[in-house]
Amino acid sequence: SIVYLNGEYMKPEEAKISPMDRGFLYGDGIYEVIPNHHGKSVGLGLHLKRMENGLKEIGIEYNTEQLREVVAHLLEANEGDDLNVYIQISRGTYEKRFHGFPEKVEPTVFLYTWEISEAHVADKEKAHKLKVVTADDLRWQRCHIKSTSLLGNVLHFQQSYGEGLNETLLFNEEGNLTEGSSSNAYIVKDGVLYTPPLSDELLPGITRHILLAILREHSDIEVVERAISKAEVFAADEIWMTSASKEVGPVVEVDGKPVGNGEIGDVWLKAQALYSKYCYDFD
Ligand code: PMP
Repeated sequence: SIVYLNGEYMKPEEAKISPMDRGFLYGDGIYEVIPNHHGKSVGLGLHLKRMENGLKEIGIEYNTEQLREVVAHLLEANEGDDLNVYIQISRGTYEKRFHGFPEKVEPTVFLYTWEISEAHVADKEKAHKLKVVTADDLRWQRCHIKSTSLLGNVLHFQQSYGEGLNETLLFNEEGNLTEGSSSNAYIVKDGVLYTPPLSDELLPGITRHILLAILREHSDIEVVERAISKAEVFAADEIWMTSASKEVGPVVEVDGKPVGNGEIGDVWLKAQALYSKYCYDFD
């Protein structure tokens, strides 16, 4: 495969970054993961926009639209019908130990791709059933920024993965749902879909944005963005988690207890089918 680093294409083993890079030493950067199936990206423009917003929040001016041609080149050069594109932009390399934003530093721009599974199908038999645990959200107060400082998320993910499970559902100090360690969260109750509203407590997921837009436009499923308590999570008929790679992931177990009747729900089936059909309409 080939990767892109600071204006050049090369083999991964040829890509060299200084250990003085702020991304390495401080986790001082922003990243994106964009899914692509059969050469078609899902929400590329939305991902690039979120990245530019994140960069602006950390004081890096960068026009991410210029990366469209890099993404296109990598998709063409690298094999596989189903590829994720990873983009990372760090503040750059600076020789002194200094916490502030150094002046006159060029950001480090790195892209690579990897093969993923085929686009998901709305099929209860084939869907990956997710089992999750709950935990207090112990991350920072800027979770809307897709920061490369992922230690908080890594530790939360491990709380479930370490038990052989798939995700950790996080709750804020008021006991309300925020999101998962690497995905957004939803419950279904009596046919209505609920998800926490956007705030600095969660990442504005691109899959979330696309899913809600599709359901509002193409279905009669009511979508409500509001706070969700832990009691509501345990009483839910269905729970879903979304991310670029999960798409709409059905959860069948929380803290060892079945969600609803412990089977994948009918509202999920409808939602994943609509997502599969319309997600490529979104740039
Ligand atoms: N929340 C967190 C904390 C994430 O890391 C991610 C992405 N892995 C998401 C939500 C989902 O975002 P997206 O749909 O853009 O992949």
